[in-house]
Amino acid sequence: MNPNLDRRRFLTGSAALAVPGFAGTWTASGCSSETPERSLVIDHHLHVFPDQTGALGYDDPDTHNRIMQGAVRSLWGRFVASHTDPRYIPEPDEEVGFTQGKYGIWRWRKHGEDCWIRRGPQTMSDPIHEPEQMLAHMDIVGVDMGVIQTGYMAKVWGREVYYADCIRRWPDRFIGTTDIDYDLTKDDSHLASELETLERAVEELGYRGLCSHMPKGQPRDDPRADALWKACIRLKIPVFLDTGFNSKGDYLREIGEIENVCRRFPELQAVNAHQGSNVLPPSDPNHVDNPTEFFELFKLGNFHLEFGYVLAWENEAVWGARDSEFPYPRHKDMIRRIYECFGARIMLWGADMPWAGRACTYKQCIDTIRHHTEFMTDEDRSLVLGGNAARIYGVAG
Ligand SMILES: [Zn+2]
Repeated sequence: MNPNLDRRRFLTGSAALAVPGFAGTWTASGCSSETPERSLVIDHHLHVFPDQTGALGYDDPDTHNRIMQGAVRSLWGRFVASHTDPRYIPEPDEEVGFTQGKYGIWRWRKHGEDCWIRRGPQTMSDPIHEPEQMLAHMDIVGVDMGVIQTGYMAKVWGREVYYADCIRRWPDRFIGTTDIDYDLTKDDSHLASELETLERAVEELGYRGLCSHMPKGQPRDDPRADALWKACIRLKIPVFLDTGFNSKGDYLREIGEIENVCRRFPELQAVNAHQGSNVLPPSDPNHVDNPTEFFELFKLGNFHLEFGYVLAWENEAVWGARDSEFPYPRHKDMIRRIYECFGARIMLWGADMPWAGRACTYKQCIDTIRHHTEFMTDEDRSLVLGGNAARIYGVAG
């Protein structure tokens, strides 16, 4: 049986077709003339991965586990956890008995106390999110395609094995992005060989975007990075220029660097996941007036910001009940401010599954755009929900 046909029949009977924003032309494979026309819906931000307690391309499971342990510091203060004092954060090589436990909880013991942080949604009985699980989520709310953002495994193994398999098996459902090691501290021959790796990943393996490349903190506007931006233009792929999860000074500096790059390379298509990375309450010393920090970038037209990252408001202890719950009024207000000044063409919807499940259901996440952007036209809403991603990634839509 043709799985596309099954999906089309299912969607035809679902509520997904009956709401604003679904009035365009649906060109997904298997679509027939009897099917109501609508735009492609593309989730710009999802993750799939095998059991996180495995090696996943690292030397052994313990090496991978220590990398996960080292990631706790970057999550601290945003995620719901047993403690708020940073003295309980485990250092990467500290013996604290760190485990990725069941139901999304990471556990360790430090300073004589049991500590935990809620990394995944409670619905994840084990730390695993297979592509079939993601497709089930997509089918139930009417999402045609999803952009796989990398991570949660060794870069090379992801590129050559795991993600390559996903986009080979479901070419009409998943858009693959890939990683290279464009570390500016390494010599020119290394950087040139990484560009060759990128070219092969796109032209032979079928990836459609570049997810990670330069290590965090290296200046995006360094002249030695020019070859990277030129390669993305030549290969006609967008590049992730993510921001945030850092101090206010570093955050604003990296936005300025990205502005320099986007200004010098107007043909480059840049995307930024995690619009909520540095969304902080006014009392926080790193607070900025989101989203005005991106306004100079939006004027250029080739920088795109992702919405739907409602996880920015997940911690009720920080935000209070009104702002931490669906339909996320602060999230809506940021979208409205951008829309009124710059229109819809620079916005992308992405849920960040499976992690979005910590805050809301997948349906609620898409509904923050589908049902709570009444200030937009239906045509503009369909751009945010997939039309822009289809254009940037070269998908017929
Ligand atoms: Zn993510």
